Amino acid sequence: MSDNTLLSTDAIRERALSALRRVGITAPEGTGLTARTPITGRPLFELAATTAEQAEQAVTAAQTAFRTWRTTPAPVRGELVRRLGDLLREHKDDLADLITVEVGKIRSEALGEIQEMIDICDFAVGLSRQLYGRTIASERPGHRLAETWHPLGVVGVISAFNFPAAVWSWNTAIALVCGDTVVWKPSELTPLISLACSHLLDRAAVEADAPREVHRLLLGNRGIGEKLVDDPRVALISATGSTRMGREIGPRVAARFGRSLLELGGNNASIVAPSADLELALHGIVFAAAGTAGQRCTTLRRLIVQRDLADEVVDRLTAAYRKLPIGDPFADGTLVGPLITAAAAEGMRHALARAEAEGGKVLVGGGRRLADEAPDAAYVEPALVRMPEQTAVVREETFAPILYVLTYDDFDEAIALNNAVPQGLSSSVFTRDQQEAERFVAADGSDCGISNVNIGTSGAEIGGAFGGEKETGGGRESGSDAWRAYMRRATTTVNYSSRLTLAQNVSFL
Ligand code: NAD
Repeated sequence: MSDNTLLSTDAIRERALSALRRVGITAPEGTGLTARTPITGRPLFELAATTAEQAEQAVTAAQTAFRTWRTTPAPVRGELVRRLGDLLREHKDDLADLITVEVGKIRSEALGEIQEMIDICDFAVGLSRQLYGRTIASERPGHRLAETWHPLGVVGVISAFNFPAAVWSWNTAIALVCGDTVVWKPSELTPLISLACSHLLDRAAVEADAPREVHRLLLGNRGIGEKLVDDPRVALISATGSTRMGREIGPRVAARFGRSLLELGGNNASIVAPSADLELALHGIVFAAAGTAGQRCTTLRRLIVQRDLADEVVDRLTAAYRKLPIGDPFADGTLVGPLITAAAAEGMRHALARAEAEGGKVLVGGGRRLADEAPDAAYVEPALVRMPEQTAVVREETFAPILYVLTYDDFDEAIALNNAVPQGLSSSVFTRDQQEAERFVAADGSDCGISNVNIGTSGAEIGGAFGGEKETGGGRESGSDAWRAYMRRATTTVNYSSRLTLAQNVSFL
C-alpha cells in the first residue's frame, strides 16, 4: 500500500502549539530539553529542563502538601480527580494531537490513550468511596481487630515514552484519591504531552480547591529521575520502562527501604491452536503485533502455532502484513506510524540480522519507508520472521514490530514455549477447545500477569490490575485492588473491656 504524504515539521509544530494553547499553555520556553516529533524526526521546541535544585524543591512541596492532603476526606480528594476527568474529556482531541506529534501514534490509538485516562479517573472517583479496610474476628473478648489503609506519602512516577499520558493517569488518579501526592518524571521524549497533563491537573486543583502542590512535574532525562529514586522522602517509586531501567533503580530504592512498583519490558506470546477461529485470530494477531508500530509493552512478539496450521497462518499473515498502511499517523487510514527514534529502527535491523544468523527467515517486512521524504524519521515495515526454535534474540524484547513465528506439536510444549522467556507480561491463546483455554489460564498454564483467551496480548481495560511477572517487575497498576500499593496498612487492636487479655493465652504478672 502506498505511503501517504507527511505533514511538514512546521505544520506539526503549529499543530502542537494550537493544542497546547487550547489546553492553556502559551508556548514552551527555556533550554535544556528538546521536544521532537518522530513523524519527521525533527526538533520542534526547546524547553526548560528541571534542575536538581528544582527537583529537590518539588519533592519538598509535595511532601508539605501531603500533610494536608492525607487528612482531606477521600471522597473530597475524589472531587479533584473528577474535575481532572472532566478536563480530559474536554481536551481529548488536543491531548491526542500531542501524543501523535510526540509519539507518532495513529489517531485512533492516541484517542484511545486519552479515553483510558478518562476511564481511570472515573474508576478512581468511585474508589474514593471504597478504600475498604476490614474488621477481623479477635481471639480476645472485648477486643476489636481492624485493618485500615492510610495514605503513603509522596509517590514518584517515572514513565516511558510509549504511553506518555495513560501511565501517568493510572498512577496519579489512584495515588491522589489514596491521599498521596505525586512528583512525575515523564520520558524525556514526551515533554509536551506531559506539560499539558500537568497543566490540566493544576487547573483541576484550582477549581476543586485542592493544593496545587499535590502534583509536581520534573522535565528531563534519567538524571532527574535518579534524584527521585534516591530521595528518602519519596515513599514509593512507580517506574514504567525497560527492564534495564528497572534493574538500575530497583536496588537503589530497596537500599533506602523505599517501595517500588515496577512495570517493565514484555515479550508476549500468542498460541494458535488447531480449533482456533482463524479469522478472529488473524485480526487479533495483526493488531497486537503491528499496532502502535510494535511499541507497546504488551505488543505480540512471539506467535506459537500448531505445526499443521503454521503454513496457512503464515501465508495469511504475510498477505495481511503486505497491505498494512504505513505512514503519517495523522492521516486517515494509516495503521502503522513511525518508530520513536532512528535508534529504535537500528535496533530492529540489528535484531532481524541476528534472527537470520540464528536460523530465522524474514517472510515479509523489515524494510524502511519514506526515507527520502523524511530522512530523520524511522518508518519501518512490520516484520514476520519464521524461526526454527526460540533462540536468544527471540527471548529478548526488541521494541519494534517484529513477530517471530514458532511451531509446536502438543499443547504442553506450547505452554512451555510461552513461559520460556525472562519476561512475564502478557500472553494469549486462540482456541475453541475449552480444556486448552482453561489449562492456559490455570496455575500450571501461562506464567504471565495477563493471560487472555481469543483476544491478542495488547489493549487491556483499566478495570483489571495491569502488570507482569519475572523481569517485567511484578508491579500491578490501574484497576482491581492495585490501589493498595499506594497506601500503607495499619493493623489496630482496640481493647474496649476492662481486662488486659494477652494473645495466645500468655500470662504475665
Ligand atoms: P526507558 O527505560 O528507556 O525509560 C523509561 C523512563 O525511565 C524514562 O522516563 C527514563 O528517563 C527513565 N529512566 C531510565 N533510566 C533511569 C534511571 N537509571 N533512573 C531513573 N530514571 C530512569 O524506556 P522507554 O524506551 O521510554 O520505554 C519502552 C520500555 O518501557 C519497553 O521496554 C516497554 O516494554 C516498557 N514499558 C512497560 C510497560 C509496563 O506496563 N510493563 C508500559 C510501557 C512501557
